[in-house]
Amino acid sequence: MIPAVLPTYNRAPLNFVKGEGCWMIEADGRRFLDLGAGIAVNVLGHANPKLVAALTDQAETLWHVSNLYQIPQQEALAAKLVDASFADTVFFTNSGTESCELAVKMARKYWYEKGETEKTQIIAFEGAFHGRSSAGIAAAGSEKMTKGFGPLLPGFTQLPWGDVDALSAAIDETTAAVILEPVQGEGGIRPMDDADLRAIRTLCDEAGILLILDEVQCGVGRTGKLFAHEWAGITPDIMMVAKGIGGGFPLGAVLATENAASGMTAGTHGSTYGGNPLACAVGNAVMDEVATPEFLEDVNRRAGLLRQKLEGLVAANPDVFEGVRGAGLMLGLKCKVNCMDVVNAGYESLVVTVPAADNVVRLLPPLNISDDEITEAVARIDAAAQSLTAKA
Ligand SMILES: *Cc1c(COP(=O)(O)O)cnc(C)c1O
Repeated sequence: MIPAVLPTYNRAPLNFVKGEGCWMIEADGRRFLDLGAGIAVNVLGHANPKLVAALTDQAETLWHVSNLYQIPQQEALAAKLVDASFADTVFFTNSGTESCELAVKMARKYWYEKGETEKTQIIAFEGAFHGRSSAGIAAAGSEKMTKGFGPLLPGFTQLPWGDVDALSAAIDETTAAVILEPVQGEGGIRPMDDADLRAIRTLCDEAGILLILDEVQCGVGRTGKLFAHEWAGITPDIMMVAKGIGGGFPLGAVLATENAASGMTAGTHGSTYGGNPLACAVGNAVMDEVATPEFLEDVNRRAGLLRQKLEGLVAANPDVFEGVRGAGLMLGLKCKVNCMDVVNAGYESLVVTVPAADNVVRLLPPLNISDDEITEAVARIDAAAQSLTAKA
């Protein structure tokens, strides 16, 4: 018999009933160190007092009105995002997938309004993840995500990750935009080289096409800058955000330049919930905390500590791990054993990590993880790795 919950996930037998900062408490009382943060979502940890206050204050005042009316919390959050980024304008969604949908629509509408209706094609990269909607899976293109779901949304091609020459050759008069994650998340924590990202920006500029960055996972302080593309010193035309921006409340956004957004006039897009007062109250509280130089400086310092300890972990467990990669607090342990075995052994050692493609274990802790928690987390992963070596 089919379970009451559609079985599209292989769920771990863990039932977390409470969260406190970087800790999650299982129904049986065990305390797990959380290096997954709900897949890069809980950027300020669990039950953060400022976020709880923002949410409960708003919950007592007004939950939802509709985008048919003014929403001051939404305007305030949009202003913060515009101030802190390349963007001139923001549309709020409820998820990364919805941000992908709008980013694709926006890019195509841009060219339509310019009368260049042949420019509809979007070039993506292998290993990408842009969500599970028809546009998202078509953009990613992998058999794992698309098989059985045809006919796929047309207009997407995929190139080898970071292959600037292939991109240069692929851009033609039908190309509308290029879409990529500055650091691939699901694809196995694969950062794009700064030089390659700059080269891609240059190619887009030369061809006059739009660059869409998917910062759903790598954005909102995760890499130690508010947005990951800042490391390369470039800006996109359109950017997808979600995950961290809501700190655990469902919230996403599409940021764009005035030029890139010029086709999206009244009536061309909408969302019932997107940017509602409840979500934006939390989003504002997240931005107030994360988008400060002091906070981001701390993320970089913590990231340095975690990375250094992980290098030691890899050196101490050469049969389990091949190396560390990633940026900031978005780190991956490339495994020699099956990465899922490491994740499962981590559960035994009371540490939560997340598997990714390319046999990588992802570490995406809350951005305010303490030094002691970093030390403890790596000790627990070490215990997990040793338990695997002992079994072998
Ligand atoms: C998670 C993710 C998405 C999809 O976001 P949802 O909120 O799950 O819809 C899209 N792009 C990237 C890079 C992601 O990590």
